[in-house]
Amino acid sequence: MTDIFEIRSQLQKRLKPHRYEHTLGVSYTAVCLAMRYGGNLKQAELAGLLHDCARQYKAGEMITQCEKYKIEISEAEHQNPLLLHAKLGAEMAVSEYHVGDQEIASAIRYHTTGRPGMTLLEKIIYLADYIEPRRDQAPNLDDIRRLAFQDLDNCIYQVMKQILEYLERSGGIIDDTTKQAYLYYKEKETNR
Ligand code: FE
Ligand code: FE
Repeated sequence: MTDIFEIRSQLQKRLKPHRYEHTLGVSYTAVCLAMRYGGNLKQAELAGLLHDCARQYKAGEMITQCEKYKIEISEAEHQNPLLLHAKLGAEMAVSEYHVGDQEIASAIRYHTTGRPGMTLLEKIIYLADYIEPRRDQAPNLDDIRRLAFQDLDNCIYQVMKQILEYLERSGGIIDDTTKQAYLYYKEKETNR
């Protein structure tokens, strides 16, 4: 059985204090969302804890680590290697933190981009990462936080929209999966 306390103390050693704090926030927020939507609390807690477990690496190390795990690196990821922390984190959860649960690995894998047709756990981690209590950057967070507990898919759509608008405004790199995910939830939410 995975020992959550052991994982927590390892993360605390490896991550910067603010990142570790964020990790705890995501973990507990994910548990709350799982309570609301009938998800598995243990999975939510563990996926939340581990979602940024590869965030300790700087750009160059991120590439080296990904090569070690034979992770395919896209053009966008070469330009901005920090994007790789999601894919790398999913691999590390399995091989370094001994998480055998593929659903958890997948929630880590897609926590930054989302994807079309996300599982409940994937949605929970994606949103928990955006709304956890220490976050304070995004616009109308109060509304988004309330919406997260009222209408999961609509909240996913609103968050993806905000992120894309921000990336477009700031000239950031937009991953293809991010765009596909947004179009999927836009279609779903505007047609109901
Ligand atoms: Fe992250
Ligand atoms: Fe995060």
